[in-house]
Amino acid sequence: MLAALDGLPLEISTGRGLSSVTAVLRGGPGPVVLLRGDMDALPVTEETHLPYASVIPGAMHACGHDLHTAMLAGAARLLSARRAELPGTVIFMFQPGEEGYAGARYMIEEGVLDAAGERPAAAYALHVTSQRVPCGTFSTRPGAMLAAADQITVTVHGRGGHASTPHRAADPIPVACEMVTALQTLVTRKFDVFDPVVITVGSFHAGTTDNVIPDEATFLATARSFSPESRGALAELVPRLIGDIARGHGLTAEAIYAAEYPVTVNDAAEAAFAGETIAEVFGTERGERAEFPLAGAEDFSLVLEQVPGAFVMLGACPPENDPLTAPTNHSAHAVFDDAALADGTALYAELALRRLARA
Ligand SMILES: [Zn+2]
Ligand SMILES: [Zn+2]
Repeated sequence: MLAALDGLPLEISTGRGLSSVTAVLRGGPGPVVLLRGDMDALPVTEETHLPYASVIPGAMHACGHDLHTAMLAGAARLLSARRAELPGTVIFMFQPGEEGYAGARYMIEEGVLDAAGERPAAAYALHVTSQRVPCGTFSTRPGAMLAAADQITVTVHGRGGHASTPHRAADPIPVACEMVTALQTLVTRKFDVFDPVVITVGSFHAGTTDNVIPDEATFLATARSFSPESRGALAELVPRLIGDIARGHGLTAEAIYAAEYPVTVNDAAEAAFAGETIAEVFGTERGERAEFPLAGAEDFSLVLEQVPGAFVMLGACPPENDPLTAPTNHSAHAVFDDAALADGTALYAELALRRLARA
């Protein structure tokens, strides 16, 4: 990463808490623009069998962040070459730990937003997708772009015993199962269908064998929402439902509702500016205004809470795959076409150049 920036006229600082890299390119007098690329991989063993597949079991760039890193380094190179005509300053935010570790929060705490000495006027992030949009097509929208993601940790406290005499024990398993289905009912009965939420229980653990009732059952869920109202309602209603179901069966339960990433909200003017830039640089057919937000989540939302900006998706589906059926990001089979790299690099650079020139 640092080698890719070697020799460029950048002020580079590395993170204390993380392997982050902040690079500042100072042109002439003018405002500041921040460009962000995340860098981390996922704990997935790659199954694509491509010549350039990951050789490390349990580590795969299944979300395409390696493309973001390459594109942002490319933009740093392009903009460095045009430093003399740059009417302002660009912060390049090379961020680790997007996939659930809130790497952006650490970088913000360590001062990335103030790295140029003044707050950025705008911030942009690009993200590749292995499906949905054709290769080279950009997609963004004003307002909610991605969901908020929160984590629910539930522990049901029962009383273990012999499986043949459940009346002498307090079995936490059926109670926890009831909670899982009740959460799905909550989703459909307590939330406006036009301001949807998603709850998925992705982990459920209890017991050791068939003839023992365990003391406890635990499960983990993710909760996705698209508005502060729905997010607030989830945080209130989910723990109440869990507690009430446990009480109804004479058990107790804890539900910890932990806020993770807020809704990624694109500034309307910055999303429009990104759309215009895409149309002018690549042609109108290469950009789409996404009709709906995506239910994924992003810690770039934490940057957008403080700086107006836009998060833009870039199709990287290889031509042999149908975007509508291709394996999704995070799949062990996800494939990202490097043909998208030049366009993503160009868009990063154009967004910075044009936004600085406009201000
Ligand atoms: Zn991801
Ligand atoms: Zn990602």
